[in-house]
Amino acid sequence: MNTNSTPTLAAVDQPRLVWLICDGRCAARHECQGEVKRVHVMHGSKDWGWWDYCDEARAEDKRRGMTVEFENVSCSQCGRDFGPGEHGFLHCADHSPTNS
Ligand SMILES: [Zn+2]
Ligand SMILES: [Zn+2]
Repeated sequence: MNTNSTPTLAAVDQPRLVWLICDGRCAARHECQGEVKRVHVMHGSKDWGWWDYCDEARAEDKRRGMTVEFENVSCSQCGRDFGPGEHGFLHCADHSPTNS
């Protein structure tokens, strides 16, 4: 039997701000760069849950070996959405070699 611990979702009901506050280590140093976006962080099989990260915070966690995925990624060429992923696509060739 697999005992699954329920993730805490305390922050879910808070109103969405236009500009999300970065949860990354850079927030304390005021070095946020780029747009803050909601990402799902995993370290191996360990689920760290959802965080609001700027570009710098995402890069930092990747350097530390985490998997950082966006809620949804899309393709700049065809505009299709692909659900959770580490990055979006610039060209259709990047996501579907056989473009059917
Ligand atoms: Zn930041
Ligand atoms: Zn495409």
